[in-house]
This record gives sequence, structure tokens and C-alpha cells, in this order.
Amino acid sequence: MPIRNRFAELHPDITAWRRDLHAHPELQYDLPRTAGIVADKLRAFGCDSVIEGIGRTGVVALIKGKSDTSRRTIAFRADMDALPIFEATGAPHASKTPGKMHACGHDGHTAMLLGAAQYLAETRNFDGTVAVVFQPAEEGGAGAEAMVQDGLIETFGISEIYGLHNSPLLPLGQFAIRPGAFYAAVDSFHIEVRGKGGHAARPNNTVDTTLAASAIVMALQSVVSRNTDPQQPLVVSVTSFRTESEAFNVIPEQVMLRGTVRSFDMEVRNATIARIERIAALTAESYGATATFGFDEEPYPVMANHEVETAHCVAAAEAVSGTCITDAPRTTGGEDFAYMLQACPGAYIQLGIGEGPGLHHPSYDFNDEVIPTGCSYWVSLAEQRLPL
Ligand SMILES: [Zn+2]
Ligand SMILES: [Zn+2]
Repeated sequence: MPIRNRFAELHPDITAWRRDLHAHPELQYDLPRTAGIVADKLRAFGCDSVIEGIGRTGVVALIKGKSDTSRRTIAFRADMDALPIFEATGAPHASKTPGKMHACGHDGHTAMLLGAAQYLAETRNFDGTVAVVFQPAEEGGAGAEAMVQDGLIETFGISEIYGLHNSPLLPLGQFAIRPGAFYAAVDSFHIEVRGKGGHAARPNNTVDTTLAASAIVMALQSVVSRNTDPQQPLVVSVTSFRTESEAFNVIPEQVMLRGTVRSFDMEVRNATIARIERIAALTAESYGATATFGFDEEPYPVMANHEVETAHCVAAAEAVSGTCITDAPRTTGGEDFAYMLQACPGAYIQLGIGEGPGLHHPSYDFNDEVIPTGCSYWVSLAEQRLPL
């Protein structure tokens, strides 16, 4: 059951869809064109029902198999949103909207799942129902959580859910997965340091917030090296340091720090957040300043693959590509599919697109050569999990 011949025929069509989506990127939940095209195509393929507006702008279509003795529904999810990046690929299908770009390949994910939906609606060689799920706002915004809260799993009676992401770190067509924690929990925080501003020539009359904030940045790097079990992966990064004043001769009243924590274990995560808060407060105090800790965006939880469903993914990937890496390294990136895996058994796999600029890079572009492999994977998974 390697790559399906039908996808050799559909390859030019699916490539054209992908490039059209690439040229017209949309952000977050604001996806009128993208979600509209997805829903129109799903209807044109003859899907049994197409439901819009799940999780604000998400789209779900149901495709019924030749029989339904299993009475089971399994779901495949693609993300539709782009990033606020200025594209630098120079490709003929480059973004027509300056400052918006499909730099994570969600255009490819959407096109491949559409291709699989067309095939499944044509052939229906399975027993039960396949739900194809197109979600908004993966890149911050927790669109997956919005769809789950909107009743995605219960409304459609989904018993297994699967996700896929392209990877420029893997050879073209190479699948990779691991059971358990796969993508990190993501926290974004800020620390506001306040003191007594004043003339830089008379620092003795001020409380120097710049010095206190610098000390906090340095001290936070001890959390990973001194407070955390060396067996536990953890990242603490301070990424932004903004003083209230940009003058050379003013000690600012306020400094704002921002940063992120990446972790794979909730206990480690909670201990790290508590430690950051305490280090910030006590370090500031030692300089006579104050520090207030807060979160910026809603945290994403750890994305953990379920063991049994991971094995199902491996079987489908091997059927298509002959091999599958089953101990893929964990990634410190975040993925809001975590919310779907908290609500339902399932797993998430990576698919190599060959070496090139990394995800979120202005020169990144999805590799259309992988389309038949990705589409065949979805179809194999459907037919293996819902055999006639
Ligand atoms: Zn991304
Ligand atoms: Zn992505």
C-alpha cells in the first residue's frame, strides 16, 4: 500500500490549491478566504456533511464509508493559519499580502488533507466515518482548544484524532514520531521591574531599574542549571528587555522583560514558573526595586502522543514510505494539537520535506513534492483504522 496512483493524477491540482493558499495567507481566526475555499471544496467532493464555524472559523466535514458496522468516527486535523512574517522566497506563488506568510507549511497541511478528503469521498473503502478537521489559530490563539470547547469531540463522536506537521529537518518523505511527550509546553511571561527613576549623573538618588533587571536576566539562567533535574529538558529564555526611556542620561522608572519557558513535565513547569517569580521579586528587592510577574498569552500544554495511537500512525507511515522513525527527538516548539490529545486518544506525526530554510523563516516554503506521500498517509490511516 505505497503512494496511491490517484495522487499522481491529483498532484497538479493539490499543488495548485497549496500555492493559491500560499499566495493568500490569513492569520489567527481571521480566515474568511481560506476557510471558505476549504468548505467549498469539501462540498464539491461530495462529503456527507460540511460544518463551518466550529471554534469560530474551523471547518469539519464528515465522509461516510461503504459500511458503518463499526459505528466509529476517526478524525484527521490540519491547521489553516499563516504567520505575521514578510516573505522572502521570491517564489511565483509568494504572499500577495506584505507582512503575512505561510512560513509553517499550514498551506501544505490544508491542501494535503483536502486531497485525502477528495480521495476518501471518491472511494469510501472504509467502515465507519472519517471527520476531516480544519482548524484556525494554531500560531498562538489556541484554535485547537476553541474547537474542543465548541464540542468537536462529542458532537461528532470522535474516538481517535490524528495530526501531521511537515519538517524541513527530515529527508523528503521520511516520517517521524514518538510516544508520550513530543512537543513542549509553552509559557510566555513578562516581568515588570519598577524603581525610582532620575538623572543618570546622580544614580545614588535613584533605584536603578536597568541594573536590577539585568541582574534578574542573569539570575534566571540559574533555574535550568541549578534548580532542575538534569534529566529533565527545560528552556528559560529572556527575549525582550525594554526600558521606559531611551535617553542616555535618564535612569528609567520602569523596565519590562519578556521571555518564554519550554518544558515537558507539568511538575517541572510549575516549579520553574514559581522559581522565576521568586528570583525576580527577591533580586529586585536586593536592588531596592520591585518586580511583578505575569503571563502574556495563554500557555500551551505539553503535546503528548497516546501510545496505542502512535503505533497506528507508525503502521500507516510504514505502509506508505516503508519506514518510520519511532523515537523522534522531542521538540521545544509548541503545538496546540495538545488540546485535542487531552480530549481524545490520538497522535501527531512529522513528515520530512527535505532540507531547506527552517519553519517560521522568511525563506521557508512548503515542498509540494511531498503531497502524494502526505495524502497517501491519511488514506492509509483511514483504511487501516476502519477496515471494511
Ligand atoms: Zn508554526
Ligand atoms: Zn505549524
